[in-house]
Amino acid sequence: MPFPTKFIFVTGGVLSSLGKGLASAAIGALLESRGLTITLQKLDPYINVDPGTMNPFQHGEVFVTDDGAETDLDLGHYERFTHARLGRNNNFTTGKIYHSVITKERRGDYLGGTVQVIPHITDEIKKNIMSVAKDVDVVIAEVGGTIGDIESLPFQEAIRQFKSDVGKENVLYVHLTLVPYIATAGEVKTKPTQHSVKELRSIGIQPDILLCRTDRFLSKEIKSKIALFCNVDVDQVITAKDVETIYEVPLVFHQQHLDDKIVQLLNIWTRAPRLEDWERLVEKVKQPKDSVTIAIVGKYIHLRESYKSLNEALCHGGIGNDCKVDLDFVDSETIDEASCRERLRTAHGILVPGGFGIRGIEGKIRAIRFSRENKIPFFGICLGMQMAVVEYARHVAKMEEAHSTEFDETTSFPVIYLMTEWFDYRSQTVQRRDITSDKGGTMRLGAYPCMLQEDSVAYRAYNKKEISERHRHRYEFNNEFKERLQQAGLFASGSSPDGKLVEIVEMADHPWFLGCQFHPEFKSRPMNPHPLFVSFIRAALDHKHKQP
Ligand code: GLN
Repeated sequence: MPFPTKFIFVTGGVLSSLGKGLASAAIGALLESRGLTITLQKLDPYINVDPGTMNPFQHGEVFVTDDGAETDLDLGHYERFTHARLGRNNNFTTGKIYHSVITKERRGDYLGGTVQVIPHITDEIKKNIMSVAKDVDVVIAEVGGTIGDIESLPFQEAIRQFKSDVGKENVLYVHLTLVPYIATAGEVKTKPTQHSVKELRSIGIQPDILLCRTDRFLSKEIKSKIALFCNVDVDQVITAKDVETIYEVPLVFHQQHLDDKIVQLLNIWTRAPRLEDWERLVEKVKQPKDSVTIAIVGKYIHLRESYKSLNEALCHGGIGNDCKVDLDFVDSETIDEASCRERLRTAHGILVPGGFGIRGIEGKIRAIRFSRENKIPFFGICLGMQMAVVEYARHVAKMEEAHSTEFDETTSFPVIYLMTEWFDYRSQTVQRRDITSDKGGTMRLGAYPCMLQEDSVAYRAYNKKEISERHRHRYEFNNEFKERLQQAGLFASGSSPDGKLVEIVEMADHPWFLGCQFHPEFKSRPMNPHPLFVSFIRAALDHKHKQP
């Protein structure tokens, strides 16, 4: 007998950054390992309609899905840990909810009624949760923010109501909280958890499972104490212990029978879990045979969250080569003529990631020149690719003032420019934009096909002719300079099927020098590392072993 779709709601208490996104992703992985089909969803309390316009310093990376949605970085965890394919319905914000309710109100859909948080906003939230519940056994929905925040109250109220809507046997509440170890007292403290659960219960939600983030496994006594104060069974208190690698989280949960408990409470019969892949993966990550150092030359280096998918993809590239990848974050603003060599000397590979804005641009160009001239493997992603084109144009193809019009509108060599008209493959329509276009949602976003030229680094890495990768940018390679750059030794090894958009450039006379207009990091998986990252790390390893 098939069972109705089940819903797991994940909330967080005490403070943010406890790893709610990872915990949700790990639950997804465990349920998949038992043969269930799942999807995940993130409910964000902020008022921005999507995180696309938010500063990476504040919000971390913007994760892009195949369908071109700009989403919360937790969706990156979800995709890396599970087989769920996510899109714009898998992330919504207070802004998006209000936007659609207000649009309906203006249209007159509420027929003169007073539009209120309850029921109109909460109904809209529930409708959005329901929208992803098709064709899956379990929906895991994570509520952003912390219990007690004013902002997330409508979401909490909506998930509370959800239980009576779909039946109590179909809903499970998981609460992630903190159990800190206080060194001066020599013990862990349960009070923050008690308070957080009290808060949750005061709005009508009794958690079924508590995930307690802590640095050590909790003793039976501590678990019993938490269970007693929080009104849950002791086997529903799980230690969410700090781990060496994030890919260990599903295994730590499984050791404490979290997946057994979930399927039991939701009354689902499944096959026994198969976690051999995860065990092998963790072993590989923990026991690498070699190591390389990759310098990431960028602007947001102080905030690792800004390059989340990139860091993971590099780690995956290492997994594909049985090697550990040490990341050396280099602030591009500090790279000048004098410091460049010294700062990048220890790198076996140099990567310039995506970005926006002029700050640190010349430092990035200098780092690219250094890798080109010294034949150090170079990987340019989006802005990194664009700056590789600029560097090559300036210093090899003799177009001294070459630039992207993003940074110099009047350059006589606009090798990267704003394409005002282009064909959108997904909608099969011609799109137009100019500098006055809105900032939100006017980029080339999401998956686009790309044809690879045989006899190229890209083709050898992917080992196929047609690929699909995700984009998030406004500016493009200017075909007017294609010929001239090619003659100078920089060629397009990947282009859109109609040949109009250059998607990958490579340098002919270099062991590994590749720039791509898309963001390959969004599609890399620990179990299935991205071909370009595997190939780049291999080149970095070769470079390391060639050195005296
Ligand atoms: N700023 C560049 C553009 O908009 C690159 C964007 C990016 O690296 N994601 O085209």
